[in-house]
Amino acid sequence: RREDEEMARAKEEARLRAKGDVVRLHYNERPEVGREARESSPIIRLRGFNNWVKSCLISKFVTDEDTHRSAYCHGSRRGPWVLDMGCGKGGDLLKWQKARISRYVGVDIAEISIMQARDRYRDLRGRPFDADFHAVDCFSEPLINILGPNHPSFDVISMQFCMHYAFQSEDKVRCMLSNVSRWLRPGGILIGTIPSSDTIVDKVKALKSGEKGWGNSIYRVEFQGEPQTTFRPPWGHSYRFFLKDAVEDVPEYVVPWEAFRALATEYDLSMLYRRGFHDVFHDEKDDRNLGPLLDRMLKLQHDESRENLVSGDEWDAAGFYLAFAFRKSGA
Ligand code: SAM
Repeated sequence: RREDEEMARAKEEARLRAKGDVVRLHYNERPEVGREARESSPIIRLRGFNNWVKSCLISKFVTDEDTHRSAYCHGSRRGPWVLDMGCGKGGDLLKWQKARISRYVGVDIAEISIMQARDRYRDLRGRPFDADFHAVDCFSEPLINILGPNHPSFDVISMQFCMHYAFQSEDKVRCMLSNVSRWLRPGGILIGTIPSSDTIVDKVKALKSGEKGWGNSIYRVEFQGEPQTTFRPPWGHSYRFFLKDAVEDVPEYVVPWEAFRALATEYDLSMLYRRGFHDVFHDEKDDRNLGPLLDRMLKLQHDESRENLVSGDEWDAAGFYLAFAFRKSGA
């Protein structure tokens, strides 16, 4: 059985290597469905909730809760400068508009997503901040290649639902961290969302003998080899991920949290915050700004309660993720 497993793993690795840009292909192939189709999606509540968690991060670490003004204004800047690594189709542009940033650079490996992000920026009323968009693999290439040596550093770097793709190899993790550290000003903030290795370990421990994964009607996680509960070295632990109406069978990589946190210190990044998505819900749901925002983002009807999200497959899928923030030392 072990031989079979080794063979299957070797075959899978060869397939992944041959299709080195499988992630880019996947995201380039995702159609821009438009607002109407987004609103009839079977994961509309989950999307709303994920968006709310990102808004919580921005609210906690970028904007001042009382004044809604940007807290990370630096020097003569009107508002913070933001680098969005893995920005996708620009789904966070409105959030950044609300945070009153003054400059935004969006980078993503999928060039079609970058074109769509640029279109979305053009559609923003009043062009509230300057923006540039670049198609680039920010886990393999130094961003100096696209930003140039004279570009000033950023107040905030955001990596939403994408950093786990860097954990394919040590080179990619180190390239990602070098890019973050090089382009974040001292005192600047890194925020992001990734699958939680703690959740992965809990789910693997609950598997019955022979089972390779878990899931529900919304999402599925499937390991090719024997599912692991320890991750050494901390990169290269792949699983296939499926999320209804969003991600179809893409290889993702475990981000072993403590190893990531230790590595980040080598790049002058110290942890400020780490909470699972369920904890973020319990922490922030009654906040006077974030609570009503959650109801709006979940698009609740008058007679509906948040319980519709809290119980059910979308809630379980949301528990797969955690939100984090780091600060670059030296301010
Ligand atoms: N951040 C966006 C959001 O929250 O809506 C998009 C998230 S999507 C799940 C993951 C994104 O990471 C995709 O747009 C994908 O193309 C991007 N990505 C994956 N690997 C990347 C890499 N090496 N460099 C830049 N972007 C990458």
